[in-house]
Amino acid sequence: MSWRDLRCGELRPEHVGQRLTVAGWVDTRRDHGGLVFVDLRDHTGKIQLVLKDAGAVHELRNEFVVQAVGEVAARAPDAVNPNLATGEVEIQVESLQIVSRSTPLPFQIGDDTVEETTRLRYRWLDMRGERMQRNLRMSHAAVNGIRRTMDDLGFIDIWTPAMTRGTPEGARDFLVPVRLQPGKFFALAQSPQLFKQLCMIGGLDRYYQIATCWRDEDLRADRQFEFRQLDLEMAFVEREEVLDVMEAAVVGAFEAVGKTPPERPFPRIAYDDAMSKYGSDKPDLRFAMEIQDATDVTRGSAFGVFANAPCVRYLVVPKTFSRAEHDRLVLLTKEWGAKGLANLSQVAKFLSEEELASFGVPEGSSGLFVADTEEVAAHALGLLRLHLARELDLIPDTDVFHWVVDFPLFKHDEETGEWTFMHHPFTAPTAGNEVWDPSEPQAVRGQHYDLVWNGWELGSGSIRIHDVDVQERVFTTMGMTDDEAKSKFGFLLDALAMGAPPHGGFAMGIERFVAQLAGEPDIRQIVAFPKVSSGSDPLTGAPTPMPDAVLAESGIRALPQEDPAKA
Ligand code: ASP
Repeated sequence: MSWRDLRCGELRPEHVGQRLTVAGWVDTRRDHGGLVFVDLRDHTGKIQLVLKDAGAVHELRNEFVVQAVGEVAARAPDAVNPNLATGEVEIQVESLQIVSRSTPLPFQIGDDTVEETTRLRYRWLDMRGERMQRNLRMSHAAVNGIRRTMDDLGFIDIWTPAMTRGTPEGARDFLVPVRLQPGKFFALAQSPQLFKQLCMIGGLDRYYQIATCWRDEDLRADRQFEFRQLDLEMAFVEREEVLDVMEAAVVGAFEAVGKTPPERPFPRIAYDDAMSKYGSDKPDLRFAMEIQDATDVTRGSAFGVFANAPCVRYLVVPKTFSRAEHDRLVLLTKEWGAKGLANLSQVAKFLSEEELASFGVPEGSSGLFVADTEEVAAHALGLLRLHLARELDLIPDTDVFHWVVDFPLFKHDEETGEWTFMHHPFTAPTAGNEVWDPSEPQAVRGQHYDLVWNGWELGSGSIRIHDVDVQERVFTTMGMTDDEAKSKFGFLLDALAMGAPPHGGFAMGIERFVAQLAGEPDIRQIVAFPKVSSGSDPLTGAPTPMPDAVLAESGIRALPQEDPAKA
């Protein structure tokens, strides 16, 4: 005999008269003098059970698992519940078995006011609710849609190691000690980057994987220590072919979850334009409110703050601000690194007619100005643009996917004083720019591209270096000696020297993508068992200290740590 004939949410008037077995969780129980009504629930929905007020019925409590046998009956017309898919029927129970019991619950299923740590501590209860059921099933469907698309396009799924050498993706590595080689460590792969490139050099042509990646970074709304990527790589391709495949994968996922996909091709915007117009390399393009540049106009201004600044930029915001409102915006802008924020209405008296006319700030709007370095002005106004758009409700309910292209190949690392990679050190420079002075690399552009959805960076990719000399030049620019490059990346340099085809690829964060798809504010809602921002797992209590003897087996000893409880 099976545990159930139908799932709870599947019963319909067509089943009336049938004798069936159902099983599930007690959602609610109502006593009505002589009769007890139980809503029995599983992930498909609820069915009303009608029981005689006798025997085991008295013992029933919320979240007990029960199995019931009975006849499906039509509800009386005035008892029909139009809000429930099963609302026209009920089961007149003949026999009921309590399969397992539940202690009183720390929270009621589906209660959306519960604190997140409590939800995560009892994730199995949280998962019984509608939100996590929907998100985890949507995640599955999206991944299925992606897999189908990749398969249709001739990609093969190749498994690559989690335990490897450090992969430079810009985060810290998680280390794995090795008992057989005490004192040595594997790093958990920050991505399969070099393995997928080696697959191309190995003649595999079209690789993909739903790859788990590990990065030791501070946890945020869009970051967990471990996450999945749609990771892909293609040989003998130009940038546009990679973007085309990624767009197909996105559309495949939308279709798999029953949502209207975005139109293709997704618009492209150059990195320099993104930074100057929106102050961000992942701009939210659902609304305009572009940053304007006034530097040329204010060069010789009578207003010293503008005249003497290297860069003057502003936003035109469709609202006027009171003094108090403006002061609040000034505080925010200062937090974002700018020296201040000027409201045109307050500084207009220092400016010429020509200046005022060129700004084009209409009546009823405000011109908000930052006079600073180009980077600071872009950054602060980019954040202000987002802040005000949210506050003034200027963001329409649409989906905008776009590509950011033509990134610089290198950026200057203020901390180390060295040049470092913008994406990763395997990204190719643009064609025809393969030679540069390693001490002056700022003008070199890379074949790097990012995919952005409504201001969330979904992922990055690039056309890779397939020439060993260019690869060595990148390492030199980053301040690596030949010996260092050989010791860290000798295997890659060897492979590049043995017939490497041109190749390129991409990786898109699955959880970020699905969180957006599900309209969730953070990726923890998409992950079955996530960590919280302190970096621990409230469910299992991990991470935990290890006994010295266990550590010694791997050749390591823990440094004494201050007990946070005593500190
Ligand atoms: N490995 C890169 C990343 O994880 C993606 C890529 O360049 O394909 O961001």
